[in-house]
Amino acid sequence: MVQENSSNSLSAFETLESNVRSYSRFFPVVFRKAAGAILEDENGREFIDFLSGAAVLNYGHNDPFFLSYAIQYLQTNGIIHALDMATSAKKEFMEYFNAIILRPRDLTYKFQFCGPTGANAVEAALKLARKATGRHSIISFTNGYHGVSLGALAVTGNRCYRGAAGLPPTGAVFMPYDRYWGADNDTSEYLAKVLSDASSGVDLPAAIILETIQGEGGINPASKEWLQSLERLCRKNGILLIVDDIQAGCGRTGNFFSFEFADISPDIILLSKSLSGCGLPLSLVLLKPELDVWRPGEHSGTFRGNNLALVTGTAALRKYWTNEELSARVTKMGANTSERLRRIAETNRDSGLSARGRGMMLGLDCGTGELAEKIVRRAFEDGLVVERCGAENQVIKLLPPLTIDEQTLQRGLDILDNSVHAA
Ligand code: PLP
Repeated sequence: MVQENSSNSLSAFETLESNVRSYSRFFPVVFRKAAGAILEDENGREFIDFLSGAAVLNYGHNDPFFLSYAIQYLQTNGIIHALDMATSAKKEFMEYFNAIILRPRDLTYKFQFCGPTGANAVEAALKLARKATGRHSIISFTNGYHGVSLGALAVTGNRCYRGAAGLPPTGAVFMPYDRYWGADNDTSEYLAKVLSDASSGVDLPAAIILETIQGEGGINPASKEWLQSLERLCRKNGILLIVDDIQAGCGRTGNFFSFEFADISPDIILLSKSLSGCGLPLSLVLLKPELDVWRPGEHSGTFRGNNLALVTGTAALRKYWTNEELSARVTKMGANTSERLRRIAETNRDSGLSARGRGMMLGLDCGTGELAEKIVRRAFEDGLVVERCGAENQVIKLLPPLTIDEQTLQRGLDILDNSVHAA
């Protein structure tokens, strides 16, 4: 007999769900509904969402326009699953993406739909880079995060995740990310040196994989100059440049791609998270046509290119990317929010707080994980869902939906501000 649980009781999760669960420990209520930037629990209590499914919900929860597309598609027997067969939904998505996102930016890529997770896109990209170059090593960066499957873990810095692999994650060499040794030290020079030194012990890699602003690693934005010098190093040495835009892409930093501000042209781009627009799983590798050395079916997967997600993904492109409105909004809102965070940090200078980020991917560094935890727990009690990131979970990561209204954004920031004071 299934027992009726009282509202918000977590007992079913505690008894039935594995210890591996994490978010439900930090936000100990049972969520039932969501719309825009608001989550609602089983008791009808509302929370402002500054987590957005870790950047999956850039356009907010349950956008009615996306839902109407999905409902109409389902009601007319649209194909939901088709392995990687040709479908109208996939054709429409690719044609739209090409016309709205790639062509106006003078970009030419082929599409590889892989398994539904970001990590699977990372796996595909690393395999492809190795196959295309005939080299095995990959360069990744301190504090980089690319997922928890074995290949992706090998290029992920965090010891906790690496330790859970059960065997040594190999095949990557870690280099210092931008400003790893402070603003005055250009770490791309170190990389240039080891690549040019035949005795550095660093093999010529197949690829360099990076986030232009590290998300899980602590909201660490790379500068335009650093990204450009990495691109030059790649071109000079025949190394492929992979930009993992899984968290920072789809408008989070203002432009559709997070690397546009640096005017670089990656060989491979990875997208997932907000690509479907409404939280349905979808993952994509964009590869330069000359890199398409795959043999048919060589990187396979049952759930490549979820058709319903492609339908809502096309709706997102139609609604938000045929003009500059969203980009301009993110840039303006990002500047204002960042200013507010700087003020919060300034007022609490004695606690060693500092703010950083780009667009609407912002972080409040609290110095210690302990202080950051106190703040986010207090914020949750007051109705704000926000998470932490960084090596010691010391950075509060703000990822509100890009479509959040001004009043709700300010209410969320007020809660954060009060929580900082209280903590
Ligand atoms: N790459 C980046 C930059 C990410 O932020 C993440 C997830 O947070 C991943 C890859 C892995 O994506 P997934 O959790 O869907 O496997």
